[in-house]
Amino acid sequence: MDEEFEVDALVIGAGPAGAGCALGLLRRGYGVLLVDRAMFPREKACGGCLSEHGVLSLERLGLLGLLEGAARIEGMRLRQGGREARLEIGHGWAVDRAKFDAGMVAEFERLGGKFWGGARARVLEGVEGDRRTVEVERCVGVGEGVSRVRVRAGVVMVCDGLGGTSLDGLSWSGWRIERGSRMGVSAMLEAGESRLEAGRLEMDVGVGGYVGRVRLGDGRVHVAAALDPDRVKRAGGPWRLMDEIVRRGGDGVGLMDGIESGSGREAREHRVVRMRGTPLLSRSRGLGDERLLVVGDACGYIEPFTGEGMAWALRGAIEAVEVLGDGWSVTTLSRWERAHACALRGPQRVCRAVRWLVRRPRLSCGAIGLLACWPGLGVWLSRGPRGGMSSGGGMDLVALCRGEGLKKSVGTASGGGEVRHGFGV
Ligand SMILES: Cc1cc2nc3c(=O)[nH]c(=O)nc-3n(C[C@H](O)[C@H](O)[C@H](O)COP(=O)(O)OP(=O)(O)OC[C@H]3O[C@@H](n4cnc5c(N)ncnc54)[C@H](O)[C@@H]3O)c2cc1C
Repeated sequence: MDEEFEVDALVIGAGPAGAGCALGLLRRGYGVLLVDRAMFPREKACGGCLSEHGVLSLERLGLLGLLEGAARIEGMRLRQGGREARLEIGHGWAVDRAKFDAGMVAEFERLGGKFWGGARARVLEGVEGDRRTVEVERCVGVGEGVSRVRVRAGVVMVCDGLGGTSLDGLSWSGWRIERGSRMGVSAMLEAGESRLEAGRLEMDVGVGGYVGRVRLGDGRVHVAAALDPDRVKRAGGPWRLMDEIVRRGGDGVGLMDGIESGSGREAREHRVVRMRGTPLLSRSRGLGDERLLVVGDACGYIEPFTGEGMAWALRGAIEAVEVLGDGWSVTTLSRWERAHACALRGPQRVCRAVRWLVRRPRLSCGAIGLLACWPGLGVWLSRGPRGGMSSGGGMDLVALCRGEGLKKSVGTASGGGEVRHGFGV
């Protein structure tokens, strides 16, 4: 081992859960080291839709400035087998994930936190005294190889997502993967399809999965899907299955139209610039161990239909920091298990119900018909029974997402500046 390093808290993974934990702990006075195996900014398979609940958590973290340049989403078009419902879904935002996550890390560094990109962590079994040891392999520079650092931390927050490797080999950390679980796929279209309206999430449900599309503030389009792996094989790849689902969803216009068949400028503008896949999505595992808490996707995920993953990750981070308080105690893990259940079981139950429904084409087609008659149902479903909940400052969630009273928060993370879309306009 080349080096040793002591720190109050080591956070593994710099997505919303990890960067949220790192910021929260830093603000509580912890000395924090945040590591991610990727160099930042990095891509992440995601649809990029931040729900109202996510906005509320961002406000609690003082990060509303990250929404600068993002596009508001207020409506959704849901299609299946030629049926269509236009819904109000509250006030979400379409964000560029690479930029959003890098913005959280930048704010952490601005406040004095230490971040290592290109640093792969592996947690060792057991604790030594009041420290947990983690081996970190860190890229030192192009062509200069890796340095290995032994980090001894008072607490380790594992936030390394669905495909994380930091807990590999530990006796308690195996995944329970649900039967029939789907895989995630996402892509970014460099410039948006002209048919896709700004401010609306387009969701097509079909046999073998569903595909969501949303236009970002800069015109590019986030495409994300959850697909049955066996259907992907039969279709000849994820992109073909996604194309088929979109084509059958409505007017026969597929995802590939304008990409494959376009010519000249049009074809170039519709280029798929980045495509990413995930391991199977619906899974769970233990929430921690001695001096270690697991937060965000790293402790389990369901499916992205309701677009709540980032919100759950941010909320999980806030709750985990709260539970940890001023330091590890014998009750920390059990309190984290209770807090996690309280905060996330309800919304995850809704997500499971939706997952069940979208796998039954007749029922889901009927549900789309129902939603077409009562578009307001979408808002109720997306906010859940606590739709009127207020932010930490006592502000109504809806008012908050519309941008009322936000001017002071905007720019916190990005160093100020005018808001181009949404808030304050
Ligand atoms: C197809 C798809 C579409 C989605 N669409 C949406 C959506 O529209 N809206 C929404 O809110 N959510 C969506 N989600 C879910 C959302 O992307 C996740 O829930 C969210 O990113 C979880 O955040 P996280 O911080 O827990 O993990 P992640 O964002 O996955 O971050 C984990 C980090 O850990 C790092 N890491 C992994 N292993 C190691 C290691 N050994 N050492 C160091 N670092 C490591 C990774 O590089 C990564 O940066 C979608 C998911 C999928 C799959």
